[in-house]
Amino acid sequence: MKFYSLNDQSIQTSFRNAVIAGIAPDKGLYFPERINPLPNTFFNSIEEFSDQEIAFKAIHQFVEGDIPDSILKEIIANTLDFDFPIIEIEDNMGALELFHGPTMAFKDVGARFMANCLGYFSKEEKEEVTVLVATSGDTGGAVANGFLGVEGVNVLILYPSGKVSDIQERQLTTLGKNIEAIEVEGTFDDCQRMVKTAFLDTEITAQKKLTSANSINIARWLPQMFYFLFAYKQVKSMGREIVFSVPSGNFGNICAGMVAQKLGMPVKHFVASTNANDVVPKFMEKGIYKPQPSTATISNAMDVGDPSNFVRIRRLYQDDLDLLRENLFSYSFTDDVTKKAMKKVYSKTGYTMDPHGAVGYLGLKEYQKSHPYTYGIFLETAHPVKFLDVVEETLGFSPEIPPQIQKVMGKEKKSYKISTYEGLKSHLLVH
Ligand SMILES: *Cc1c(COP(=O)(O)O)cnc(C)c1O
Repeated sequence: MKFYSLNDQSIQTSFRNAVIAGIAPDKGLYFPERINPLPNTFFNSIEEFSDQEIAFKAIHQFVEGDIPDSILKEIIANTLDFDFPIIEIEDNMGALELFHGPTMAFKDVGARFMANCLGYFSKEEKEEVTVLVATSGDTGGAVANGFLGVEGVNVLILYPSGKVSDIQERQLTTLGKNIEAIEVEGTFDDCQRMVKTAFLDTEITAQKKLTSANSINIARWLPQMFYFLFAYKQVKSMGREIVFSVPSGNFGNICAGMVAQKLGMPVKHFVASTNANDVVPKFMEKGIYKPQPSTATISNAMDVGDPSNFVRIRRLYQDDLDLLRENLFSYSFTDDVTKKAMKKVYSKTGYTMDPHGAVGYLGLKEYQKSHPYTYGIFLETAHPVKFLDVVEETLGFSPEIPPQIQKVMGKEKKSYKISTYEGLKSHLLVH
């Protein structure tokens, strides 16, 4: 399939080239030229397929021509070797747990899929590829883990100093090999800006083949549709209308869910739940998209002031706000309200939500006030232990630390500190 730039539809390229470049030459995000629905029979009998078979059917059309079927099956098998259970929280809602992978956040799926694709493509590339990625927390660990040891690929992860959790920092600074952590004196927005500037810097691009592993890269973004389908498989037999509430930052995850809907998956509605960074809820209300500097919150992976994937959502709904409103609600919640929800759910049910999942829970609650007969699924996007301080402070106990996390606790942190773009540039040009 071909992918085109959202800035200029005449700029088109293959899946392979779009993955290697990350972003179009005119800096537009790549978007599939079409989304062919899967047959109704597939959705009617989805419970007969394994997760890996579902993933294969869902992504096949997008990679066709660039990845042979046998390799695609291997890539999917390498990506999906853990579970995606739905835990019932209340009668009409459940938490879709996306944190059973190696770094315990949903980003493992996209990061592993992309690392496998790039590993396959780079076999035929003469030059090494450098992956440059900015993280507000979880992307770093997932990318570091997914790309560790992939030949022909070097990874630089930029993260804001002091603004990620201790566990998140360890996950991205302790692996070594082809993974390097760059600690930026600044915010996540500064990291993201530096990455974008590097992509535009011809002195760098003349020497290095750069790509991105943020959700702007289609190989990270698209596979995120898989677990929406796995969720559908689990709740289909209830025969209820399904609503997904997605705690959103850059809006890649929810946008991938919308692609699953375009493939024909029955979904009544999506809810984009945000923290105080409320550019999208405001847009949905007023129709004006106004980026803001990001505000720090307890759900730090969603502290995004200008969500990069929102342009893709607009394109999915033909830039028609009324049409979008028929499919999407968006609500913003303060840290205070989020903590109260964590406490309430814990005391009523014994279930520990992480602060991101709690924002998703709140969005679903808000929607179900007026749509009580739906079945709601909120995405638990990370394991609560990744936000240990917040969970301890809010719930008054420490969740048990799972083995994946224990592994990194004792390891030594290694990072390269920078405070300006020039620092990044000279580092890139020397290494
Ligand atoms: C990245 C992340 C999000 C936000 O996902 P987007 O695709 O950027 O909207 C939400 N929760 C957690 C735990 C994350 O790591």
